Amino acid sequence: MGITSEDVIPFVDLGLQHVPLREAILEITKSVLTRGDFVLGGAVAQFEREFAEYCETSFCVGVGNGTDALTLVLRALGVEGPEHEVILPALTFVATAEAVVNARGRVALADVRPDTFTLDPASVERALTPRTRAIIAVHLYGLPADMEALREIARERRIHLIEDAAQAHGARYKGARVGGLGDAATFSFYPSKNLGACGDAGAVVTRDADISARIRMLRDHGSRKKYEHLCVGFNSRLDTIQAAILSLKLRLLDGWNGLRRAHAARYRHALEGVDGFELPECSADREHVMHLMVVKVREALRDRVSTSLSEAGIGWGIHYPSPIHRTEAFKFLGYSLGDFPVAEEASRRVLSLPMYAELTDAQVDRVCRVISTSCSEARF
Ligand SMILES: *Cc1c(COP(=O)(O)O)cnc(C)c1O
Repeated sequence: MGITSEDVIPFVDLGLQHVPLREAILEITKSVLTRGDFVLGGAVAQFEREFAEYCETSFCVGVGNGTDALTLVLRALGVEGPEHEVILPALTFVATAEAVVNARGRVALADVRPDTFTLDPASVERALTPRTRAIIAVHLYGLPADMEALREIARERRIHLIEDAAQAHGARYKGARVGGLGDAATFSFYPSKNLGACGDAGAVVTRDADISARIRMLRDHGSRKKYEHLCVGFNSRLDTIQAAILSLKLRLLDGWNGLRRAHAARYRHALEGVDGFELPECSADREHVMHLMVVKVREALRDRVSTSLSEAGIGWGIHYPSPIHRTEAFKFLGYSLGDFPVAEEASRRVLSLPMYAELTDAQVDRVCRVISTSCSEARF
């Protein structure tokens, strides 16, 4: 069974997105070269205004990447030592936990919900201590977390609630865009995110003028004015070329998210009856933006299905193969196997299928056919 190059379906294909944008991106680059305002230039302020408005918040501060965005928010909210604990989900990209350590805070983990894989408010309650300063809710795979329940906990305890929205540009929770559902929200514009730059970039959005002002200062060596350093800060500024490219792509984001959702519906329709497969939750009050198309596969079946996909030239991924407490880097937290059973089970069962706006219906159908065949053969 030979695979031709037309059969290959990569897990993500960033080249395709840039075919129609190529000329516009070259023009943007030329005009920044002419102006020479390479870092925090005019296009940065413009993108900040546009993205704050898109997220239905008041302020946006462009920074170097999504991890720094989180680190700076934590510092702006007063997290700066080991006596400041920050609760985050055990199932997330490692950057969420890394940012807490970068800010010199202490990571406290909580489990996720089995139906949505987002932070479980009941588990957050159990992780609270008198030292808890903040909760980071991750809108994992593009699905908003249980913000109402988390906001209630944060309000009662007078602690901060941060959204890690790196996977959820444009998602909605009860009609409102993510980004305005807590004290501050952070975004990554890493190229493969729903809104991606042509390099590294990130942003913080908030309704709070003080938080915004503090992050502006922290991102640029603790200064408001050149050579007036008011605190020890960071160097995490947004490049002008990236900001101008992000403004261009922001106009296309809702269309791209719509295509992602249409592909997800097609996957769902074709895979619904397949034995051993569970599909992502679709809840009426949340708009999933399908950063990743993650299915839950019966444990004994995942290796088999992923091998069949690879043999057919189809890309796939696992997000994530280890929950935070089972990674080498975070062993020092002292958690054990069994502490976060839902996150642990997820890491054994999740499988991510190809998902990007430019996928075709025929490609989605082919992925589903390979999966159905692989699963039906498994029964004999
Ligand atoms: C990508 C990502 C980040 C980090 O963003 P970078 O721009 O790569 O630093 C943080 N949190 C989550 C959930 C992410 O997916």
